[in-house]
Amino acid sequence: MHQDFDLLIAGGGLAGNCLALALKDTGIKIAIVEANTREQLYASPSGDRALALAAGTVAILDNLNIWQGISQAATAIKQIHVSDRGHFGKVRLSASKENVDALGYVITAREIETHVAKLVAQANIELICPARVAGLMSMHDEVGASIKLNQESSSVTAKLLVGADGGNSSIRKLLEIKQKITEYGQTALITTVKSRLPNNNTAYERFTSSGPLALLPVGPYHCSVIWTKADEDAKALMAGNDSDFLAELQQCFGYRLGELTLTSPKRAFPLTLIRAEKMVSGRVVIIGNAVHQLHPVAGQGFNLGLRDAVQLAGMLANQHEAGKDIGAADFLNSYAKSRQKDHDRTILFTDSVVRIFSNDWLALAAARNLGLTVLDHIPAAKALLARHAMGLAKHMPNLGKR
Ligand SMILES: Cc1cc2nc3c(=O)[nH]c(=O)nc-3n(C[C@H](O)[C@H](O)[C@H](O)COP(=O)(O)OP(=O)(O)OC[C@H]3O[C@@H](n4cnc5c(N)ncnc54)[C@H](O)[C@@H]3O)c2cc1C
Repeated sequence: MHQDFDLLIAGGGLAGNCLALALKDTGIKIAIVEANTREQLYASPSGDRALALAAGTVAILDNLNIWQGISQAATAIKQIHVSDRGHFGKVRLSASKENVDALGYVITAREIETHVAKLVAQANIELICPARVAGLMSMHDEVGASIKLNQESSSVTAKLLVGADGGNSSIRKLLEIKQKITEYGQTALITTVKSRLPNNNTAYERFTSSGPLALLPVGPYHCSVIWTKADEDAKALMAGNDSDFLAELQQCFGYRLGELTLTSPKRAFPLTLIRAEKMVSGRVVIIGNAVHQLHPVAGQGFNLGLRDAVQLAGMLANQHEAGKDIGAADFLNSYAKSRQKDHDRTILFTDSVVRIFSNDWLALAAARNLGLTVLDHIPAAKALLARHAMGLAKHMPNLGKR
């Protein structure tokens, strides 16, 4: 069987589905190829991970009419408390001082993933699922993809193919796009805890000698834990029992929220920084985690991928409306150029946070504590940090309501 579309999106995860939703009323004929069914997506344990959404991300989701369906499941971050274990430095950011309702929001990945998948199913978008893109053929005026649907093979052609198929992207591999990989030798341990004292909508980021620990508020008495440890320590904690895990977590975080209890199973995500060397090849462009997979310490991965999706959607809508080729090389290269600065800045920010704060040399410890303390006393620097955390800093794409 053969089908023809304007736009074929490989991967109906957060980036791919948000791109499709941003384009659903433009007249562009769209198909998404997704490997997992909605039931598999809902049941996936990785859906437990909590995403910290920057205020800029919430504004984008609102423009796309996605936020309205998930806002009730999100917890507002009213304060961010950054501290350094064993040292005196501390920074507090507050929504009221920044004159905003919230510095960001916390929501589980499952809530957003299943909601956007539902919206895609309701829209005029062809969903080819459960299926995988198994091969690509770039031609002069279109791109062909061979698709494995159950045991059957079929082919699809489109003017443009977008690879939004995540960190392990098959599209990136098929195009032989090289990537730069930085191994941190760290693993993120994820779980949820209940606290005896209310969190008062505070997100905690605590830097320890073995890596950062974040507690993100989920409702008044629960927090999602993202605890980054050296690989061997993480392995030992995963192999041990829950009470030993909890005792070490409590010791690391302290008692500012009283006694903690575990309310979900612990999970491990090994961490790497992966960056593709280019975003465009022929009539194919890659977005989201397929281009950049970041350490979750600064909570930037989805925020960055969503900015890819809306920037590309805005440019595609204009190109289509002008009757021009949406897969033209100069057009795709101008998209890639428009995303470069935001990628560089966000990757540098995330990588620097990991490197500076997972190092316990005495001088560095002193410097970073000085940094945190100085930051707490210079309102302008603090406001800048808050703007970065909220995702409202420069290089954000233009978000006109469609
Ligand atoms: C522990 C942890 C905490 C995080 N915390 C935050 C946070 O606080 N804030 C934040 O912004 N980000 C955070 N992130 C990052 C965020 O989860 C990712 O950036 C985001 O989910 C990536 O979306 P994506 O759509 O690019 O890729 P994915 O979510 O990986 O989606 C890819 C999709 O493609 C499908 N697929 C794969 N291969 C194929 C194929 N060959 N054919 C068809 N379909 C295919 C998959 O089934 C999947 O649905 C965190 C990540 C982790 C691991």
